[in-house]
Amino acid sequence: MAEYSPMMQHYLATKAEYKDCILFYRLGDFYEMFFDDALVVSKELELTLTGKDCGQEERAPMCGVPFHAAETYINRLVSNGHKVAICEQMEDPKQAKGIVKREVIKVVTPGTNLNSQALDETKNNYLMSIVYLGDVLGVAIADYSTGDFFVTEIETGAELIDEINKFVPSEIILNEYFAMSGIDLTFISEKLSISVSTLENWYFDDDSCKAKLKEHFHVNMLDGLGIKDYPVGIDAAGALLIYLTQTQKSDMSHITSIVPYTTGKYMLIDSSSRRNLELVETMREKQKKGSLLWVLDKTKTAMGARALRNLVLQPLINRDEIIRRQDAIEELSDNAIDREEIREYLGPIYDLERIMTKISCKSANPRDLIAFKNSLEMIPHIKNQIGHFKCDVFRQCFEQMDDLKDLYNLVDTAIIDDPPITMRDGGMIKDGFSAEADELRNAKIKGKEWLAELESREKEKTGIKNLKVKYNKVFGYYLEVTNSFKNLVPAEWVRKQTLTGSERYTTDELKHLEDIILGAEDKLYSLEYDLFCEVRERVAAEVVRIQNTAKAVAMIDVYASLSVVATQNNFIRPKINEKGIIDIKNGRHPVVEKMISNDMFIANDTYLDNGMNRISIITGPNMAGKSTYMRQTALIVLMAQTGSFVPADSANICIVDRIFTRVGASDDLASGQSTFMVEMTEVANILRNATPKSLIILDEIGRGTSTFDGLSIAWAVVEYIANTKYLGAKTLFATHYHELTELEGTLDGVNNYCIAVKENGDDIVFLRKIVKGGADKSYGIQVAKLAGVPDVVLNRAKELVVDLSDADISQKAKDIAQYSKKLDKMNDKYRKVNDLEVKQMSLFDTVKDDDIVTDIMNLDISNMTPIDALNTLYKLQGKA
Ligand code: ADP
Repeated sequence: MAEYSPMMQHYLATKAEYKDCILFYRLGDFYEMFFDDALVVSKELELTLTGKDCGQEERAPMCGVPFHAAETYINRLVSNGHKVAICEQMEDPKQAKGIVKREVIKVVTPGTNLNSQALDETKNNYLMSIVYLGDVLGVAIADYSTGDFFVTEIETGAELIDEINKFVPSEIILNEYFAMSGIDLTFISEKLSISVSTLENWYFDDDSCKAKLKEHFHVNMLDGLGIKDYPVGIDAAGALLIYLTQTQKSDMSHITSIVPYTTGKYMLIDSSSRRNLELVETMREKQKKGSLLWVLDKTKTAMGARALRNLVLQPLINRDEIIRRQDAIEELSDNAIDREEIREYLGPIYDLERIMTKISCKSANPRDLIAFKNSLEMIPHIKNQIGHFKCDVFRQCFEQMDDLKDLYNLVDTAIIDDPPITMRDGGMIKDGFSAEADELRNAKIKGKEWLAELESREKEKTGIKNLKVKYNKVFGYYLEVTNSFKNLVPAEWVRKQTLTGSERYTTDELKHLEDIILGAEDKLYSLEYDLFCEVRERVAAEVVRIQNTAKAVAMIDVYASLSVVATQNNFIRPKINEKGIIDIKNGRHPVVEKMISNDMFIANDTYLDNGMNRISIITGPNMAGKSTYMRQTALIVLMAQTGSFVPADSANICIVDRIFTRVGASDDLASGQSTFMVEMTEVANILRNATPKSLIILDEIGRGTSTFDGLSIAWAVVEYIANTKYLGAKTLFATHYHELTELEGTLDGVNNYCIAVKENGDDIVFLRKIVKGGADKSYGIQVAKLAGVPDVVLNRAKELVVDLSDADISQKAKDIAQYSKKLDKMNDKYRKVNDLEVKQMSLFDTVKDDDIVTDIMNLDISNMTPIDALNTLYKLQGKA
């Protein structure tokens, strides 16, 4: 077989090193892809597939993109989940001896892309590293575009899925052992479009990871970083840094700290609740408009927008921290004029965190530095204003902020206010910044004056009236003479170029001037470039001061936003109690009240406690407002725990550890599960993971199956939740089974509420007011009428309803209520009071006859046919 051509040999060797990447191989003005890469890319980017001679009989499949447009193509591939390795020419092909030297200069991956077109400035772009070692999962998360870096450890797959849902990373890296954890990330990664890759074991080697962290943070011992309690987390963090080094091949000095956190520090909101409550995006359209964040976000900066988003996704569970935030919002609201002034100063501030990353990675251009300077101009004003505030949060922001005047002055004296984007053609550095640059610039200007002089002198001497000194990149300076004056050209002029209408000449003097001017220009451009890089490096060296200031600015922006929103929407400061009481007077749904016109939203109270008011069973016809009411309660509690003010006349909120919701039809149909299965999976998750301190919202459970099954399941669920021996969590339970209202009085802590409607002949009017008591009718036909169902169908339904009256179901429910009281008393004898034991209770705890257990233990199940099994069961039943 023939050998591959030398270039192709190099290509293949490089590709072997970057097997999991698409290799962009620079050839002149193009990046080319070959073989399988070419096949994949030509299809995904709709590029023409061609071929290249490679020394073999068959040409290598090839496709390419022009280098100047490469970014767009790279972004598209990366957002489709690919990694792209960029192999550059490392020397000028003209000067190369043999084949041109080429090297991979970086690998762009979904979690490391810095391209601003590819990034959403209101969201972080997280890369998550997960290490599975035995029973512990180490998790490290970094946003390479801002320098944020966190680490933690968790124990279960469910917690891991929660962390993934919270951060929504665009890329996850795993160790090889992760495959043995039994945790399946396929579903979540497909749903959230996360690119997941397993890295070789050496990335996660404990010693290398520790060494990497020490080297990166310049410390001798890891204790100083505060992460020693997370031995597996350290491996995840170390591997993440090693991966960044491998892919970015550039400075990571903007990652200045690592923040350890415990998942227990925040309220736990499981993924379906996060979706159901529409915290940061709506369930159907997946857009911000219509979400809680949409109402709360009046931030002025990208950093503030990102910080607010994170705050909404991570409500606190520590009362003091919540109160600290409330104090900050209140102080801003009390000083609205100062607040507005601060917000005006926030307005012009660019994304300092991401600019800083570009500066550290040496990819910032002169315009970035000007944006940086313009942002810094605002900082002293903000710091000054914040200096007048008294609350803890702002004292801390004040301390943390640096006015950064030195850096402002540096960029202001060095860089021209409206510089070009390119860095190689001068025009960036201001006069007076460098004596050497000034001198070269003068020579250039002088040279231009000399040229003008030469032009007029020669014009006079020769009589060529339209003689012009001109310049182009190929020929340099020349004298241009139109054909009509050609006969006047002196003999000593040397012809350079002939055009149709004119001739171009040079002279010794012009040549000499050209050398001076172009020499000065070349020197000036390269000096300006060096000066620019020097300024950029001096700024990069101050990364810690800048990042601290940026973080403080982000928090000020967040609190200012929450304060403005509170004022504009009449939110009040909730009291925070630790007595387990949720007492909301005239609460409103923050989003729905904005969606409906002219203050038509009807406010409602909520009262829940640990005693006789743990569970509210809410009945009322469809469209009455049940789910709005329940979501509003959950949102008010959640908002209170983020520190935000809340939509109500007054609110006293206890800290809840978790919020669970099971609301409406799920959008998980795509996963191939039936609605009922999804519903039950969610119910199972709630019943297993809720605690007495949780808040549970259940909307219409049991709907996806037959009436009796549904009612029975709903009934059993309420019993389970209400029983403090099992759970005893605060719960709002909306149902169209009126039969469940029988539970009031049967079970402690259960109360009936309904959303009032007024009957008006055949029609109903929704009053939207929650009142004590159960609804006695479902008004289904009236609601169907409102929806526009034809009269013929409505009338037929009215006839049927009389025949199929559900009175018998109601009677059954009453019977069950009676029976269940009795059953409860009987069962109490056998129930273990201890919580733990109750959870472990097995089928056999209620069976008295130990013989049966022995019989079952003696069965040889693996050798039984199904029929044998069935017969045995019959026998056992007979014994019981
Ligand atoms: P249900 O869950 O009882 O079927 P929803 O909570 O979905 O009803 O409410 C139906 C519609 O009624 C909502 O989309 C909203 O526009 C309106 N609505 C609900 N609650 C209120 C309220 N308190 N004030 C005004 N309009 C409301």
